[in-house]
Amino acid sequence: MTADAIPWTDLFARRAGHTKPSALRQLMKLLSRPGMISFAGGLPATELFALDQVERAVHAAFQRVGGTALQYGETEGIPELRQWVARQYSTPQWQLRQDNVLITSGSQQVIDLVGRVFLNSHDRVIMENPTYLAALQAWRAYETHFLPVAMDAHGLRPDDFEIRLKQGAKLAYVMPNYHNPTGVTLPAERRQRIIALLQRHPTVLLEDNPYEELRYDGEPLPGLLALDRPPDEGGRVIRAGTFSKTLMPGLRLGWAIGPKEVIAQLTKAKQAVDLHTSTFNQFLAMELLHRRYLEQSLPVLRQIYRERRDAMLAAMAEYFPAGCQWNKPAGGMFIFVTLPSDLVASDLLPLAIKRNVAFVPGQDFHLDGQGANTLRLNFTKNPAPEILTGIKCLGEALTPAVEAATRLTKATVPCTASADPLAATSIEREFI
Ligand code: PMP
Repeated sequence: MTADAIPWTDLFARRAGHTKPSALRQLMKLLSRPGMISFAGGLPATELFALDQVERAVHAAFQRVGGTALQYGETEGIPELRQWVARQYSTPQWQLRQDNVLITSGSQQVIDLVGRVFLNSHDRVIMENPTYLAALQAWRAYETHFLPVAMDAHGLRPDDFEIRLKQGAKLAYVMPNYHNPTGVTLPAERRQRIIALLQRHPTVLLEDNPYEELRYDGEPLPGLLALDRPPDEGGRVIRAGTFSKTLMPGLRLGWAIGPKEVIAQLTKAKQAVDLHTSTFNQFLAMELLHRRYLEQSLPVLRQIYRERRDAMLAAMAEYFPAGCQWNKPAGGMFIFVTLPSDLVASDLLPLAIKRNVAFVPGQDFHLDGQGANTLRLNFTKNPAPEILTGIKCLGEALTPAVEAATRLTKATVPCTASADPLAATSIEREFI
């Protein structure tokens, strides 16, 4: 039998079939084209990684722990990092302990491990609608039944959340800060209401809060874990965290915080997946923390990302056609755009890419086929001049369709098309 005659799809487990390829991952392949300005991936700014400090920290980590940094380690993670996380997320009312923390390979792994540990086929899972695409991907593998919760300009609607809780959900997934993809932040009252509702139902809530530190306006709000009962005294929030947005995503370092019984079960699941998270990267992160990297870099990240957000918003106001709507996120990485209702953002993506600018169509983030007329823009990766050029070009790509849809006219800015435009068919293939 020749290799291409093997019926692989008949051999793959059902769960493999349930995993839809991520539009984001597929899109990444197109973004290295010269001249491309990508607003697609949720990437931090590469030039803001302080390489010299990282180099010194690598050296210091080896000096301090020697070969231990390259040895197998405990599945739970190195104790000093677990203790750092426990200290960081303790509240004035209650203290976390090392046993409440599992170090993971990014917060993405927390999402997957929570699925492995809690979800049987047909279990009901409450998801904000829209929600983080890779959470949908991770949990579709467990053949779950998603219960969408409606969102408005202030995040998920507690009344809808309550209806879903009453339908017997085992798990709920919530991003309270600078939600991906919409950028919205749950106000304090809604957070309190969600926790009050949760305490009256047997549902477990996964709080995914990777962008909390990237706040550009307003005061910090308590996370859902902090509002709940203490983890080992009736609390039912598990919190996923990460260094991807504050240190560097390439370290692949995240954590789960929760009741110690849950952490022990997540640890067993992780053991089967990868034994443990990179020991070297954990010691390196610890060294960066000792050297106060976060204290130095967070104010810089906040200032630069705020400037980039504002540059994008100003350019959108100038170059986007009437009929488009968007929000002003108080933090995070994304601006969410709504086009007139009969437009399909994925149809417009090839036109944008032809002009060397990319975005992510919003439909895949939705649970029920809605959101075809939405798109997500990242404002953290590109410096302000590229943001201006990219938004000008995107405005030009969107304008004819939006004008036709709204019967409005608006002058457009001329923009150079790419010398090597991608054919629409190849884009469609990338987005299956
Ligand atoms: N959750 C959300 C909401 C995200 O946006 C991301 C990254 N895009 C992740 C989890 C995963 O991040 P990481 O695994 O790098 O921590």
